[in-house]
Amino acid sequence: MSFRDPDQNAPAGAAGKYTTHAAEETVALGRKLAPALEPGSIVLLRGDLGAGKTTLVKGIAEGFQAAEADRVTSPTFTLIHEYRAPEITLYHIDLYRIDTQRELDTLALDDLMDGSSILLIEWGEKFERFRRERDVEIAIEHRGGDERVVLFSN
Ligand code: ADP
Ligand code: MG
Repeated sequence: MSFRDPDQNAPAGAAGKYTTHAAEETVALGRKLAPALEPGSIVLLRGDLGAGKTTLVKGIAEGFQAAEADRVTSPTFTLIHEYRAPEITLYHIDLYRIDTQRELDTLALDDLMDGSSILLIEWGEKFERFRRERDVEIAIEHRGGDERVVLFSN
């Protein structure tokens, strides 16, 4: 992580803007941001294909001791991956291939939401419900090469 942005000196997990220059830095940022994610919350991960959303989830999963980074893979085809930690369950969800309300309903995401789960949703902004209900939004911008800007807001 670089510390050129004043915001980057904010306490771990605080809302702000972060810049990374390699995938490993984004994983490390995920570990750092994990404590800012509260049980029972919906987290929207925004950004183009290849921005680094899944890479960030690798670090978040590590931060919760729910899975090692290497075990976290994209749920593009499987749609939902579950990572269990002692006190919390992370659900990593990819809605890229989900286009209709009917398809969304078949995923029964409501059944996954409770006070001890966190939903990390890629492409969730496609649905107005998640734009409305999200507790945290993490937007990742590709800035050319391996540079990424990560905006955390809640
Ligand atoms: P998304 O889930 O947003 O489609 P992925 O995390 O699957 O994106 O892929 C990001 C790709 O970009 C990976 O191949 C990763 O190695 C590469 N990459 C290069 N630099 C970075 C960086 N700074 N942060 C995250 N990923 C990066
Ligand atoms: Mg992804």
